[in-house]
Amino acid sequence: MIERDEQLLERLQDLDKSLAPDIAWLLRNPCGDTPRADGLRDLGERLSALGEALLKRSDELDRHAAVRLPPEGWIPEAGPPAGRIRAAHYVGRGELRYGPLYLATCGAPCLPFYGKDPTHRIARHPRCTACTSAAASPELVSVRPVRTSGNTHKS
Ligand SMILES: [Zn+2]
Repeated sequence: MIERDEQLLERLQDLDKSLAPDIAWLLRNPCGDTPRADGLRDLGERLSALGEALLKRSDELDRHAAVRLPPEGWIPEAGPPAGRIRAAHYVGRGELRYGPLYLATCGAPCLPFYGKDPTHRIARHPRCTACTSAAASPELVSVRPVRTSGNTHKS
């Protein structure tokens, strides 16, 4: 079990409390239409430092979760099979993207139902063809992160 990072959580709580006032201060610049460079720099440095800490922590949690994966990197897809056998997908060393779910190289959400799979139960599942090609690629180092650029929020 991995411990909570209390210091990081405190930094997030501090950001939550101070971000709106900091941005409001930047936007109501009494010296002109352009926000002050020092204010922009302070906020940018703060967000960058926190972003680095969040990415580092995310990597730690991914490494911790990846210990549960079979060494070959193939696990069953999540979700209902809808009358068919679940396919096996390649997640490599894996990155958790949606709670406990791993995303395969093809984008399919997967769960390590068999843990480290010491009895090779994954061999009963047909392998995804897209993942088979990706896993054979010498350029594959890790699972690519999912980009959510298509999501837009209206305010
Ligand atoms: Zn796949």
